Amino acid sequence: MRLKNVPGAAEYIANSPYATPDPQQHKGNWKALFGNDHPVRLEIGMGKGQFMIGMSEAEPDVNYIGMEKYSSVIKRAVQKQEEHQLPNLKLICADAADLEDLFAESEIDRIYLNFSDPWPKDRHWKRRLSSEVFLKKYEIILRDKGTVEMKTDNVPLFDFSLESFADRGWELLYVTRDLHSEPDLKDNIMTEYEAKFSAQGKPVMKLVAMKPGIIK
Ligand code: SAH
Repeated sequence: MRLKNVPGAAEYIANSPYATPDPQQHKGNWKALFGNDHPVRLEIGMGKGQFMIGMSEAEPDVNYIGMEKYSSVIKRAVQKQEEHQLPNLKLICADAADLEDLFAESEIDRIYLNFSDPWPKDRHWKRRLSSEVFLKKYEIILRDKGTVEMKTDNVPLFDFSLESFADRGWELLYVTRDLHSEPDLKDNIMTEYEAKFSAQGKPVMKLVAMKPGIIK
């Protein structure tokens, strides 16, 4: 994603009640913050928040956390949440590299990765959010039988991810290379990138992978 320099974005989100400050203080206690015992699902790299807002509206009995690294980007999600005020959605400005500082073991029910940065150069493979570096983190914070759901338009990233999940013993529960031509699409909530790329006629790929019972 190209970043525009948005003056005051960090200050804006620091002052909004709709962005959770110091998210690491809630490690192990996210359900208490939501005030219920519902499962907690996390989108990493949520961008401007369209998917998180849509999911939180569609499933009020699930707690959602939208995580985004850049304050200039999350600002737009925070503004949307100011309008919607969804009680089951929290927004955090954080880096996936720090997942274990933010969430306790088994605290997360499901992780969404939507149109993650592809990092196309071979030497940058460890930066991809589906590389083993991150899968090891997901294996810690996800509950037993927890899943990662990933959507992308990027074929090399999708192929890399299929291999990466399989290499670490994750079970692939669902794989499609053209999500929008699948018959059971009615529950699909589009992300910003998904809407943009599918309007250009690019196929959207999706996989669902389940955390292995025995961790390598
Ligand atoms: N999920 C959105 C945005 C996709 S662009 C959509 O589908 O429309 C990828 C987003 O991931 C960018 O906003 C980028 O800033 C964010 N991102 C990339 N690496 C990240 C990381 N390590 N931690 C958190 N967010 C990250």
